[in-house]
Amino acid sequence: FSVMQSSLPASSTQYAQQLRQGFRWLRFSPALEGEYRNYCNSHEHGRVLWFCAICLLLWGGYALFDLWRIDAALLDARQRALLTPLHVLRVGVAAMIVLTMLSAQRRAQVRVVQTAMVTLGVALSCGAAFAVYVYKLLGVPHETAILVAVMLGLFSPFAISLWVQLAMAVVYVACVGALAWAAPVPEVGAEMLRLCVELALAALVFGFASYWREHQRREQFLYRSDAHWLAMRDALTGLYNRRMFNHHLSLLMAQARREGQPLALLLLDVDHFKSYNDLYGHQQGDAVLQQVAQVVLASIGRPLDLVARVGGEEFAVLLYGSDADHAQALGQSLVMGVRQRALPHMASGVAQVLTVSVGGAMLTLQDEPRTLYARADRMLYEAKSGGRDRCCWGETLQA
Ligand code: GH3
Ligand code: MG
Ligand code: MG
Repeated sequence: FSVMQSSLPASSTQYAQQLRQGFRWLRFSPALEGEYRNYCNSHEHGRVLWFCAICLLLWGGYALFDLWRIDAALLDARQRALLTPLHVLRVGVAAMIVLTMLSAQRRAQVRVVQTAMVTLGVALSCGAAFAVYVYKLLGVPHETAILVAVMLGLFSPFAISLWVQLAMAVVYVACVGALAWAAPVPEVGAEMLRLCVELALAALVFGFASYWREHQRREQFLYRSDAHWLAMRDALTGLYNRRMFNHHLSLLMAQARREGQPLALLLLDVDHFKSYNDLYGHQQGDAVLQQVAQVVLASIGRPLDLVARVGGEEFAVLLYGSDADHAQALGQSLVMGVRQRALPHMASGVAQVLTVSVGGAMLTLQDEPRTLYARADRMLYEAKSGGRDRCCWGETLQA
């Protein structure tokens, strides 16, 4: 078990940690929370578009139905006065739906879309409540169940967190309560009050469901990210693994060609590592590999640079946009950096401390990933046969 543990720290990702800690209040640690939001928002536009389309269908359908069935000529003056605000509301909410749709369709910033969604949620729920209130006063037959459907709608969008959904529900219930209080006819007031209670209960049920939906979604995000991270990384050092290196090598080569940027590949191999294991044990060997990984990782600075563990005690560094001089200097500094760590290696034969050899090559126009790698590997071989503890460069450097 202890051997397992010594190789585990790098594989215990921040996602796994968060899973263990839990997230009862639907919040991750700040770094993860940002990542989660980005993950959620990346597919949000399409969903908002569909959501708005449904809203428009229902809202517009109801409006048309009313135009057809309510005959203003049959109403008295007081009742007719209620129709104007209802029409204004209808047009206003429909416009709000279209605006939200446009914001999603134009792929506006997530914040803009969210603001539009929340505004729409409040407008639509309070608008629907007012419409039902007017129907009751007009004595027009109506379906109050639609208000519960609207409540369900408030808890539907993924883009809006549960807390904001709850806030919208509270505004909605308060609006129905206010209408109950303002109703000029006592029976209408009583009916609105009953609706108010029903909606509050519905909010409770939907809120509960929404909580578990978001909880599951967050959990799914953590499991997914964890698996993804582990698939790309080497468990011992936390560096990218060979598969990821191959993937990035092709990508960076294509990008370097497209943008006319230089690309350097460095291969680093620990000297006499077999005898290190033999003398100090495999576990100590693992620990030393982690130290070497730290030295290599600390040496790169640019966002597109990449370090990977490509073999047992072999590491690769890809330097994007670095010219040959800079890449060679960095290769040299890797050799120095490991040496300066002064990790004792009494069986080395090169020095009394652990050393590494580095071979490097620059990307040329004719290169494929395989040929670039082969040239760097040849230089690594040169460094080894030249006495180790050094950095060798391909002939293209001089050219
Ligand atoms: P050279 O200077 O020519 O590179 O000699 P070397 O002994 O380093 O090279 P060789 O390829 O003969 O041996 C590499 C050793 O690295 C063999 C293997 O036991 C060890 N090794 C490979 N992966 C790991 C690992 O994950 N952990 C440990 N502790 N050792 C490893
Ligand atoms: Mg090797
Ligand atoms: Mg070696």
